[in-house]
Amino acid sequence: MEITSEQDLNEAIENLKRHITEMVNEKALIELFQTELESLRHSFRANRSFFNKEAIVFLSSLRHFKARLKHFTEIQEDIEDVTDRNHYDEVMEELESLRDDFEMWAVGKRIKREIRRMQQTRLPVLRKTEETRQRSRLSIAIATLQSRALKCPKGHPTRLIYQNVKKPFWGCTWFPKCQSRRELSLKEIAILKDT
Ligand SMILES: [Zn+2]
Repeated sequence: MEITSEQDLNEAIENLKRHITEMVNEKALIELFQTELESLRHSFRANRSFFNKEAIVFLSSLRHFKARLKHFTEIQEDIEDVTDRNHYDEVMEELESLRDDFEMWAVGKRIKREIRRMQQTRLPVLRKTEETRQRSRLSIAIATLQSRALKCPKGHPTRLIYQNVKKPFWGCTWFPKCQSRRELSLKEIAILKDT
């Protein structure tokens, strides 16, 4: 829209403000800002006398918001690639800061929806992956310890007992015929604790 009077400018600004409270789609909003700001810049160059300070401040703030919306679209592309907890925390921090920026905007709903999506679908997957990793680290540690197992005092092979016990220990494979047991050494405990 060509700005040829102060009234034109006010209308253009009112239009932009209406879009902010109504438009939910960030990509459409970016596109709109792109064209509107471009044309307003053009008019500003042609006749800056219509542009009062308030209008200039508002319009330059839109440039900032446009960049932030662009950032939001980039984060959305990033979400599928979030496979570890640190990355998740980083993305969440960005989303929460965007949510605060766009609190009063219609597009703020989209940001909140992404935050919920992260919490409800991404987080459980990450937790599961972490548990699986933890379990596999544990089984490697147990295999390592078992490969170095000493014989019991009577010369029988021993086995690491770690399930359903308060404290893991070495039991004799001849149990219950042979009741000997040995506590783990500090070094062996350290290997288990490392997982
Ligand atoms: Zn034994």
